[in-house]
Amino acid sequence: MLQIHCPYCQEYREEEEFSYAGQAHIERPSEPESLTDQEWAQYLFFRKNPRGLHHEMWYHIHGCKQFFNVCRHTVTYQIISSYKIGDRPELEQSKAVDKESINAN
Ligand SMILES: [Zn+2]
Repeated sequence: MLQIHCPYCQEYREEEEFSYAGQAHIERPSEPESLTDQEWAQYLFFRKNPRGLHHEMWYHIHGCKQFFNVCRHTVTYQIISSYKIGDRPELEQSKAVDKESINAN
């Protein structure tokens, strides 16, 4: 079971207090009517499924009822950081991939 740090409550709580809410940092297109059907479908339905660091949204459903972001390693399940919506993660995904490929060599 994961221990998840809620950046609003400022404490670690059991995973069962939270609900996974999908990939983080998905920006709604500013002019959706100008997109092709394929681009709109990409925005609505397609999500990353990386092997390594993943930025995802969680909802503290049995706590403060706030959404926040978590940076989690999908292989080890280790949570690297949690941060409020609107904040930037400590590790960006592209840097994390570089770091992982360096460690693999
Ligand atoms: Zn909370």
